[in-house]
Amino acid sequence: MTPAPKAPIALPTYAVEIQGLTKTYKGSKKSAPKQALKGIDLNIPRGQIFGLLGPNGAGKSTLINILAGLVLKTSGEARIWGYEVADQPMQSRSAIGVVPQELNLDAFFTPRELLELQAGLYGVPKRERITDQLLAAVGLTDKANAYARTLSGGMRRRLMVAKAMVHTPPVLVLDEPTAGVDVELRRALWDYVRQLNKNGTTVLLTTHYLEEAEELCDSIAIINHGELVAHDTTQNLLRRIDNKKVVLTIDRDLTEVPANLRPHGWELTNPRQLTLAYQPSKIVIGQMVMAVQVNGFAITDISTEETDLEDIFLQLTRRNPAVSSVA
Ligand code: ADP
Ligand code: MG
Repeated sequence: MTPAPKAPIALPTYAVEIQGLTKTYKGSKKSAPKQALKGIDLNIPRGQIFGLLGPNGAGKSTLINILAGLVLKTSGEARIWGYEVADQPMQSRSAIGVVPQELNLDAFFTPRELLELQAGLYGVPKRERITDQLLAAVGLTDKANAYARTLSGGMRRRLMVAKAMVHTPPVLVLDEPTAGVDVELRRALWDYVRQLNKNGTTVLLTTHYLEEAEELCDSIAIINHGELVAHDTTQNLLRRIDNKKVVLTIDRDLTEVPANLRPHGWELTNPRQLTLAYQPSKIVIGQMVMAVQVNGFAITDISTEETDLEDIFLQLTRRNPAVSSVA
């Protein structure tokens, strides 16, 4: 009897599944034990670009390194493409490519050699290697045979991304990919990440550049002190903060806020400018503006300020409210 063929694994709903994940680094003579992750639950849908945000020391790299098989978890479960990292290390590792936070490239190899070596480590047969394709994708074709030590920081970073992709994993993880990368190269790297994502790669990136998360990510999780403080779509997260500001310019100088406007919280930000911070869900801004006009002066300009992720981030990490989750 021939053995039944291995059933092909159906595409998982979640590229990464994390349940009750904890990590405590053992202390030493000099330092106390450190609980870096305090029970994280997080599912990352297949096909997304997912942002893991948090201040320094929040536990982002710990989480990523557990997924990469570089750090052993203390308890809980972590699955990549359905494979548990501790129980199925071979399978889970082959499903993930990781670009670590530190640039650690052997200076005496060329990009081509490094990619070939890495492919060898992952057991990719010679004829299935995509070295040239990867070099082209990260814009290093003309540096293919230069020593890595002669490459700029941005080039090294891109080479690290290529290195993480030699075995074409379905999940690519980037730990602070654009830290120390100049703006232009950052754009190029984002474009490449978007392109990989369009071709089906699920991307998980950590960053503390909120702009990066806002621009790239479909969903965002925020962690602080080893705990999840928010997890939502980028859009919802932006919408969640019920805070806006409206600035009115008027046609004459004021010395104080008119009495009828004071109860609402209008402030005089300069003699011709009235500013109101308000909650869109509680206040009809049209009525507020009408209340200004009642005083008999004309509004010559009006502008509103939206909250951005920076504000959300500050609010969430300060107040640590209940987690809202889309999963
Ligand atoms: P992030 O990447 O968000 O900056 P890390 O995961 O690197 O955070 O660190 C989380 C916490 O765990 C920090 O307090 C850090 O000092 C601690 N930590 C990280 N790695 C180790 C380690 N190897 N040994 C002891 N403590 C560690
Ligand atoms: Mg880190």
